[in-house]
Amino acid sequence: MKKLALHWQILLGMLVGVLFALLMIQFDWGPKFVTDWIKPFGNIFINALKLIAVPLILASLIKGVSDLKDISKLSKMGGRTIGTYIITTVIAVSIGLTVVNVIKPGKTIKEETRNELMDSYSGDASSKIADAEKQKEAGPLQALEDLVPSNIFNAASDNGNMLQVIFFAIFFGIGLILIPEETAKPVKAFFDGFNEVILKLIDLIMLAAPYGVFALLAALVVEAPSADLFKALGMYGITVLLGLGLMIGVYILIVWVFTKKTPKFFLNGISPAQLLAFSTSSSAATLPVTMERVEEHLGVEEEVTSFVLPIGATINMDGTSLYQAVAAVFIAQAFGMNLDIATQLGIIATATLASIGSAAVPGAGMVMLVIVLAQAGIPEAGLALIFAVDRPLDMCRTTVNVTGDAAVSMLVAKSVDKLGEPHVRDWDDIYKNK
Ligand code: ASP
Repeated sequence: MKKLALHWQILLGMLVGVLFALLMIQFDWGPKFVTDWIKPFGNIFINALKLIAVPLILASLIKGVSDLKDISKLSKMGGRTIGTYIITTVIAVSIGLTVVNVIKPGKTIKEETRNELMDSYSGDASSKIADAEKQKEAGPLQALEDLVPSNIFNAASDNGNMLQVIFFAIFFGIGLILIPEETAKPVKAFFDGFNEVILKLIDLIMLAAPYGVFALLAALVVEAPSADLFKALGMYGITVLLGLGLMIGVYILIVWVFTKKTPKFFLNGISPAQLLAFSTSSSAATLPVTMERVEEHLGVEEEVTSFVLPIGATINMDGTSLYQAVAAVFIAQAFGMNLDIATQLGIIATATLASIGSAAVPGAGMVMLVIVLAQAGIPEAGLALIFAVDRPLDMCRTTVNVTGDAAVSMLVAKSVDKLGEPHVRDWDDIYKNK
């Protein structure tokens, strides 16, 4: 018997998870069962993915940079990567601003509903606002200062900073290029082998993916807020989704135009990573799978994936920036404010920066939204308004974030002549039972 392709297995897991949770709710078997006995398996799955993200970045980036053998190649790729990331983010914010100005979802919110929504979430929202206040207090060069870790173990720790790990890995890779070949050889061989082990671990973890997403989705459904809140915020949700859908269309188009790879090829290759991004709401947790898919199924060489994707997972969040633009204007509309063109242009800049600063974890985009609101003079308390539907929108914007990273890595690969044919490791032997 032929086994289902990976993305179908994951989709099936998600579907069964949702149905299972609905049944539990319907027959009053209690969400507690799901929270106590199912959710932990989802958390274990996410933890396992996050566990290998840091060693993966270290090993593959050190290997990737040292394979370049030439610092000028590195800076050429670096420049193109950052440049393309910024361009796609600006496109995303502009799409967000366009849809929210055309649909005007905030105008449909009556004052009464607005107050109700604010009351029901003000507690949670104020803790988010407090988190975000800290971000706002940072000086102009804080981001640069944060780039260089004083201790690599702190950087790699749970509340560490992925950009610092990336910095260390690139720095180490450069060192490796600069020392004599003979001395560098065993170090490179070590990281090569280390990298292979990590890739094998991803294979193993992905065997559990259908079950992991089953648990994650079941837990999300039993913990979801009431349907009334969704109804009140329906137009806003639809506006964000429409924007995100358009952005996916933009990726498909640019990949098609610039690399001649068809939409089917692109989506088939990246879909398991998209589904995981949706289930986990975390680009960082999805990174190991994004890297494997882009390399093996989209044909991007490892030198490029190892460099472009970890950076992308950390700074390129097109879905997040689009959502921040829509959310900011929506809140302004709900409070009866009219934003002039200058303010909206300001949102393009702040949402781009805020998305770069958002951590690749669930809910981060909403915290950084405060910066956009503050800059545009929109009441920060408005966060409470959109709190109820943040999680489902987070799932969707994370999917777009990951898709954007994959698309940009294909463009960069094409531009440096590193886009080849798919070359699947033994992964598919496991899945397709060849
Ligand atoms: N969850 C998103 C991500 O990991 C960030 C966000 O909250 O928008 O990509």
